[in-house]
Amino acid sequence: MQKYDVIIIGGGINGGSIAYQLSKRNYRVAVLEKERIASEASSAAAGMLGAQVEPRIDGAFFDFARKSRDYFDQLVPEIEQVSDQPVEFLKNGMLRIAFSEEEANMLKERIAWQQEQGEPAEWLSADQVYQMEPELKAEIVGAASFPKDGQVMPAQLTKAFFKGASNLGADIYEFTWVKGLLGKNGVITGVETTSGRFYAEHIVVAAGAFTPHLSLPDGASLPTLTPVKGEILAVRPEKPIITSTIYSPTVYIVPKANGEIFIGATEREGIYDKIVSFESIRRLSAEACRIVPALRSAEWSRAWAGVRPQTIDGLPYLGPHPDFKGLWLAAGHFRNGILLSALTGVWMADQIEGKADHLEWKDAFDPGRHSQKGVIP
Ligand SMILES: Cc1cc2nc3c(=O)[nH]c(=O)nc-3n(C[C@H](O)[C@H](O)[C@H](O)COP(=O)(O)OP(=O)(O)OC[C@H]3O[C@@H](n4cnc5c(N)ncnc54)[C@H](O)[C@@H]3O)c2cc1C
Repeated sequence: MQKYDVIIIGGGINGGSIAYQLSKRNYRVAVLEKERIASEASSAAAGMLGAQVEPRIDGAFFDFARKSRDYFDQLVPEIEQVSDQPVEFLKNGMLRIAFSEEEANMLKERIAWQQEQGEPAEWLSADQVYQMEPELKAEIVGAASFPKDGQVMPAQLTKAFFKGASNLGADIYEFTWVKGLLGKNGVITGVETTSGRFYAEHIVVAAGAFTPHLSLPDGASLPTLTPVKGEILAVRPEKPIITSTIYSPTVYIVPKANGEIFIGATEREGIYDKIVSFESIRRLSAEACRIVPALRSAEWSRAWAGVRPQTIDGLPYLGPHPDFKGLWLAAGHFRNGILLSALTGVWMADQIEGKADHLEWKDAFDPGRHSQKGVIP
């Protein structure tokens, strides 16, 4: 019988971050992953840390997102040291371009409330943007500049989290498919897997879009998550052509530290497959080349797809299951799972230790927020 303090179901970036933080606090941790580490959304992402470019309103999500982004400054060098693996991390800023006055006004409002919260954000005229990024040729009204929003290489960071956790004593089990959770009388005690049973006092479900597929005792269920497939591609220009990430309503263009440029991404609700359609690549490429025509001469690199886990209100589930003691959720990070991963690990570890004190985050990310007892939508 395998017995641990904490079992984490899922070898994505959020499972990795939680495993790392708990291992640092000397918990005996096991991670159970059905395939290889980083085989799902966490290796498909563009890696943007868009704490200011993504949120549309002030509130718990914005607060969590910006604190998570800021924590990367400390976390990346730390995890590189503990894991002995490099993690590409760029603080190259983002330009959210606007094509109409209406969009410009919406962005100016966002800049105003973000400045009130002490975050650097600035409206740039079209001429200022063309000066900053001479290869950006689309006719724009201007852009919101978010200089602190950066990016990482997501698969690298995911693997570094697990290597770091493993170096601190965690056991990582790949090709170990969790079929369901074990327990009775409202207490979860273990999991049934393709490699036998594992037991722990705390079990954290970090299974991304696959979370609802796990079975619970007594016919109870985990919250519904909608899969939202995203297709994305990479090209390699001969020399760097943009410095900031350029973000528009239809496409984002992300210059990576390795010289590639990621161009993403589609949003196709209800789809779990990872097939890349020619039409999606054609559309993303056309939009990107309309904004930065020099991309046309870049070398083709690759295209791929992943499945984002979306909750009913778009906010993640980070906390205890409402009906089962010992069961925790860290899933539903949707478009921002890389950005939120840094703080997800700390926040989940704090909650498991009973030390979490941010009431606003507890309420906003409570896994039971849409449920009546025993019925989770
Ligand atoms: C195209 C695209 C672009 C994106 N770009 C960005 C971006 O720029 N910035 C950003 O912040 N976010 C981005 N995202 C979102 C981000 O990728 C996700 O929110 C994040 O990766 C979710 O991580 P996770 O660890 O929660 O889930 P996952 O990475 O999906 O990991 C879950 C893991 O659980 C495992 N698993 C599932 N069920 C079981 C089971 N029964 N037993 C054992 N293991 C199981 C899976 O195999 C998987 O490895 C993007 C997503 C896509 C698809």
